[in-house]
Amino acid sequence: MPIYEFICPVCKEKIEIIASISEKQKGLKPLCPKCGNEKMIQVFSGFAVGSSRGSSGSSFCPPTAGPGCCR
Ligand SMILES: [Zn+2]
Repeated sequence: MPIYEFICPVCKEKIEIIASISEKQKGLKPLCPKCGNEKMIQVFSGFAVGSSRGSSGSSFCPPTAGPGCCR
């Protein structure tokens, strides 16, 4: 199931919510666990921020990659 990240604009608390697509479509209303704020802002972290290289063990290995790739 996808993970949705929300951040509280008040206290900057960041939470992760695991919800199915249908649950998401019904509308997620996360509450800040710290200050109780209901207006959490969804964070789109994109793809593998901070670990874009070599973490997934994918089968694709460009020939220009140095040692360590595919090993
Ligand atoms: Zn908060």
